[in-house]
Amino acid sequence: MSDDKFVPPSASRRGFLGSAAALAAGAVLPFGAPAFAKAPLSKTQPAYFYRFMLGNAEVTVVSDGPLPLGDPGTSFLGVPKETVYGMLETNFLPKDNVVLEQNIPIVNFGDRLVMFDTGMGFSKAFGPTTGRLMKSLEEAGFKPADVDDIVCSHAHIDHIGGICTADGKALFPNARIHISQVDFDFWTDESKLGSPLKAFIEHARANLLPVRDRIVFFKDQQEFLPGVQALAAPGHTAGHHIFKVASNGKSFAFLGDLTHHAILLTENPRLEFAYDSDPKQAVQSRVRLLTMLTEEKMPVMSYHFAWPGFGNLVKAGDGFRYLPAPMQLVPV
Ligand SMILES: [Zn+2]
Repeated sequence: MSDDKFVPPSASRRGFLGSAAALAAGAVLPFGAPAFAKAPLSKTQPAYFYRFMLGNAEVTVVSDGPLPLGDPGTSFLGVPKETVYGMLETNFLPKDNVVLEQNIPIVNFGDRLVMFDTGMGFSKAFGPTTGRLMKSLEEAGFKPADVDDIVCSHAHIDHIGGICTADGKALFPNARIHISQVDFDFWTDESKLGSPLKAFIEHARANLLPVRDRIVFFKDQQEFLPGVQALAAPGHTAGHHIFKVASNGKSFAFLGDLTHHAILLTENPRLEFAYDSDPKQAVQSRVRLLTMLTEEKMPVMSYHFAWPGFGNLVKAGDGFRYLPAPMQLVPV
């Protein structure tokens, strides 16, 4: 830093008075004194979980780690690439790599622990930063055996990936797995192993087939667990669902992959996503359900939004705006 740009605090009136007071007290001058706070950069982060109350239930969001999608121009379609880059730039987000979070809420209803989606597991298809679920669980004080139910929004690689180990052992020994039958049938279908979906099919088979006897299929509108209702949201996959989660008069919607990004698919919900099975149907589901949630003023818990993914949506122009809830680390 050059001297001509740096204005020391003592140049201001407040700083001058402060320095004068310090001198009067016999303190050491601020400049030229040795710095005792020298320390190496820690390069660590706090534990990857966040906790809040929902009625009588305690929600702990744990992370499977960030999932970098790379160039958004190849993932978000339906408008010129420049439009996508422009939306990111306007929001001070990098243009060259869209990074999605993987926010996994675990809801403790008092008598039951319910986890929503499971991350990438052993797949490294999106790089080394995913697959953190077990570490995050431990940081949050959970054991895998504590989980009673796993609810899957759909059978994509980053949602069912954390159910089994690479050699087919169930990671959650006591959990029942809830998913739509449409998605189970589609993504475990052996005949698709020769298709471009191969990696997705292989990972779904590796995670779902070993626990087939513990899989339960829910239906659209069904409250299949106390406080958990499924709502069909087809398009991203044919059997994709979102969930209303409620306790003692409070609720949120777990969005799964109804929208992947707080700006791109939310402010412009008619954008298409390259990983949608049926992009047009996905747009319809997204607009219909996000409209419903904004009218109900229901908070949302979003799997892929910025950590920890809890907030509210409001209508804004032809789309929606996401308002993240302030994180509170001490209840007030
Ligand atoms: Zn996803």
